[in-house]
Formats: sequence, structure tokens, C-alpha cells
Amino acid sequence: MPEVSPNTGATRSRVARLLALLVVALVPLLLCVALGRYEAERISRREAALASAVIVGQVVSIVEAAQGAARTFVSRVGEPCEQLSAGLTLEAANVPYVRTLNILDEDRVDCSSALVQQPIPARGLLDGHARVPGDEWLRFVNNTPMVHNRPSLLVGITGGAGRAAVAVVDAQYLLDLLHGAAPLTMFREAELSVGGGVVLREAQAAVRDAPLLADVRKRVSGATIELKMYGRPERIRETGAGLLLRYMPWAAALSALLVWLVRRLQRSGQSRRDQLLRAIRADEFHVEYQPLYGVASGRCDGVEALLRWVPPGAGAMRPDEFIQAAEEEHVIVPLTQHLLKLIARDVATWDVEPGFHLGINFAPEHLSGVQLVGDVRALCAVVVPRGIQVVLEVTERTLVRNTGQARSNLEALRREGVEIAIDDFGTGYCALSYLEKFPFDILKIDRGFVLTIDPEDHRAVVLDCIIDLAHSLGAELVAEGVETQAHLDYLCVRGVTYIQGFVYAKPMPSEAFMRWYRANGARAIQHAKDGGRALNA
Ligand code: C2E
Ligand code: CA
Ligand code: CA
Repeated sequence: MPEVSPNTGATRSRVARLLALLVVALVPLLLCVALGRYEAERISRREAALASAVIVGQVVSIVEAAQGAARTFVSRVGEPCEQLSAGLTLEAANVPYVRTLNILDEDRVDCSSALVQQPIPARGLLDGHARVPGDEWLRFVNNTPMVHNRPSLLVGITGGAGRAAVAVVDAQYLLDLLHGAAPLTMFREAELSVGGGVVLREAQAAVRDAPLLADVRKRVSGATIELKMYGRPERIRETGAGLLLRYMPWAAALSALLVWLVRRLQRSGQSRRDQLLRAIRADEFHVEYQPLYGVASGRCDGVEALLRWVPPGAGAMRPDEFIQAAEEEHVIVPLTQHLLKLIARDVATWDVEPGFHLGINFAPEHLSGVQLVGDVRALCAVVVPRGIQVVLEVTERTLVRNTGQARSNLEALRREGVEIAIDDFGTGYCALSYLEKFPFDILKIDRGFVLTIDPEDHRAVVLDCIIDLAHSLGAELVAEGVETQAHLDYLCVRGVTYIQGFVYAKPMPSEAFMRWYRANGARAIQHAKDGGRALNA
């Protein structure tokens, strides 16, 4: 039998191990960078929201102070300027933030706290803007009749006959507020607009790519005060870098810990692999053979070879567990090659009827590998001359992962007389369409379906469907895990070809099997279909 090293699988698993290490090393570091960025932006937004709320609150209290001053004169807007002038001057001097107090007729200033000479020239205080509707109003203007090129906030209250009392607030107060907040925080630019009109802007530098961090709006006297704050990207980056510096050592420690843990896991995996390979060399495996009862012939028509591992000084290992480990560690191919050698060694001493079935389990990796055909041929060379029919048991997983190589392997072996059985049928992800495409001779009904047979009710709907399906595909059927007489009767009546299970015989080592076969191999068992013939036999 050709000895094939597990090199391909080993290289693949080494690459997978390295990739896994790389991933666990990088994930915490990348997360840390992403978290740093996210956190820097969050901090900037929180600071901006806080500063904006404070500034807008201040603007509102300035507006309210100015409104208070204008309200004092709103009932007197119709009085002559000589009567109002002194009062306007006094009030304007007393109320904080107010530069002048004025009485407006349409948009002309009729009387002002800033002018001694009355009446003043008829220039528009609204700086060419349309009259603001409503009783109370706010408006930014760039010029006033007395102060040019300096923005002012007009806080007006309209009285009778379209005349209004208007307090003029110097916008410098508002600019100072914005200015005060800007250097402290991360803002590149702040924009304040009150009820439309001019926008007050305090900018660190005129760059338009700055992200908007906060947009706070508040309605006062029918107008909306809106403050927008834009961030300084370089400052946000700096904050991010600071956070990164703080968190990176932790992320690096986490990544080192994860690498260590994964390495440990990998080592334990590696040691599983080493254990299996060592156990092969130490000849710790043996094979047990579970007889198959042929319903038509009424005798033992075959066996399934089941691998056993009993490490010295320890109990037997569970086959499903060590087989799974062997598959995961990519030693299933050398292990199965070892199994085939053990079988060849055992069968050399057997004496069985011609056509005796020998079922051997093959894992998907082996089936889709290049060694399969050679390995099976080598076994056939030993067992076929002894009249033995080799049956490859493949699970549904193989069908689903049906690679071109697996298919051509099985087709080649089938042409040479090897039979294919689909194992554990119905338990995996078998799509029925695979059955038509895949070359096979026998369906093995999983124990799970046999257990659905109700001894009272005698109904097992899915099981019946599987049996019908196998019949219509012209396949033979093996029922696995048959433990009770009721199950046996049910299956025999429905035309199952072979019975495998404790009701007939348990798996046995080679020598024990041969003894059993000589004593019981030709003996029929009683079941419903034989109508009691077996008992009389
Ligand atoms: P499987 O291929 O379905 O094998 C049949 C399993 O059912 C065997 O378990 C057998 O001992 C058990 N069995 C048979 N009759 C009865 C019964 O009446 N009642 C119950 N409860 N169980 C019964 P085992 O030997 O423990 O093997 C478990 C699985 O391990 C196998 O399931 C197969 O998937 C895997 N395995 C065993 N030997 C090999 C091998 O040489 N190669 C590969 N690739 N897999 C193997
Ligand atoms: Ca099997
Ligand atoms: Ca099975």
C-alpha cells in the first residue's frame, strides 16, 4: 500500500495557524485605532454641544436684556422725540449690552439715545432689509446709521401705527462669546445667525472641510437663534492620537494574550496530531467488525469495519471523537491508510462466503484526495481474491463537498467493482438532487430513523420515505443501529436488504468475529417477514 505523507494537509493547517495568529494579533490593535477615532469625535461633539448650549444661553439673555429696554418704550412710541430722548439715553446707558435705544417709524430712525439733535436724518436702521413682521423681532444688520461696517443685533418691539422701539446690541459682545469658546475647544469655526439676516462668524482659519460638530437652535421672540460649530480635523486627530497612546498598551497586551492563548490551543491541537501519529506508529489501533444480516439470505452477509483506539493504561477512546480530531488535524488520511493495513492483515485469516461485504468508512479529505484510488486498490488486491466485496462508506458531507476529484475517484473504483454506500443517510445536509448525480449502490439508514419506529403504532413516515426512495433508485438498504425485535420486524417487512445492530451482533475484534461467524454466520434470525421459518430452521 503506498505510504503517503500528510504534507499537503500539514502545510494547509500551518498556513491556517499562522493566519489565525495574525488575525488575533491584529484585531485588538485595529479595534483600538477605530475606538480612538470614534472616541475623539465623540469628545469633540460633546464639547461642542456643551459650549454651544452655553453660548446660545448667553445670547438669549443678551436678547432678553435688550427686549426689556425696548419694552419700556413700546407704549410711548407715538410721543415726540423731545419727551423721549432723555429717557432713551438713560435706559441705553443702564441696560447692559445695549448700545442705543431708538424709536423707528417704518425703517427710519425717529428718535435715538445716541443723538442729541432731534429729529435725526431719515436713514434706514434696517440697513435696506425688509421690515420684520410681528410684534417682537430680531435682526442682524451690518451697518447702523451711526456705526458703519460693524454688525449689530436689532431687538425690536412694534408698538402702535407701525412704529417700533428698537434696542441696538453691539454684535461685538456676541463675537466675543464665540471667540471665548473657540480657542478652548476644538472649533475651527462658529457661525451664529439670529432670525435670518447676517451670519456672525468667528473663524480660526477659513477652511471649509471642517466637520460640523454641533448645530444648536433656540426660538426667541418668533426668531430662531442658530449656532453651528465646525471642528478642527487636526485637533480631532490629535485627540485621537492621545487616546491611542493611552489605550494602545492595553490593546497590545490584549493582542499578546490572545496570541498566547491561540498558540496554546494550537499546541494542544498539534499535540493531538502528534498523539495520533504516535499511536499509529505504536500500533495502538485495532479494528472491530460488526456483522450485517442479509434479510434475503438469512445469514451474515458482511461486516462494517470500525476503528478502535485503546491507548495503553487508558480506557478506549470514543471513535467519533478521535476520528473527528484526526479529520481536524489532517491525519485522517494516514490513519485510514493504517486502518486499511490492519484490515488487510485481519482478512488474511478469514474464511467467508463469496460476495461477503466489507464496509469501510472514508472521510471526505481522503475521498477527494489523490491517494484514495491507490489505497483502495491495494486493499482490494488482498481481499478480493478471498471473495470479499469492498464497500466504501461515505457520509453526506462528501456528497455536498463533492469535488471533481472525489467523484472521479469513486467512479473509477466503482468501475473496478467497489461499491459505494451513503452512510448516516438523512442526518446531514443531503440535498436529494445529489443522489441522482452521485454514483452509489447502498443507502445506510441512520439509527435516528430506526428509533422513530413506534412498536405500538407501526408508523415511521420519514423512514418509510427513505426506504421507498432507495427502492425507486434501485439501491440496497442497510438499517443501522437496530436494537429491538420490533425494529427488526418493521424493517424486514419493508424490504431492507441488510440489518446492522445490536439485535444481531455487536462489533468484535477480528478473531472474535471469525469465531462468531463460524458459529453463527449461517444462522438465520427470526423476524416478521420469515413467518417463523427461522425458528424452525
Ligand atoms: P458509523 O459509521 O455510523 O458507525 C456505526 C456506529 O454505530 C458504530 O459506532 C457502531 O458501533 C454503532 N452501532 C452499531 N449498532 C448499534 C446499535 O444497535 N446501537 C447503537 N447504539 N449503536 C450501534 P462506533 O464504532 O462508536 O463509531 C462511531 C462513528 O465513528 C462511526 O459511525 C463512524 O462515523 C466513525 N468511525 C468509526 N470507525 C471509523 C473508521 O475506521 N473510519 C472513519 N472515517 N470513521 C470511523
Ligand atoms: Ca459507517
Ligand atoms: Ca452510519
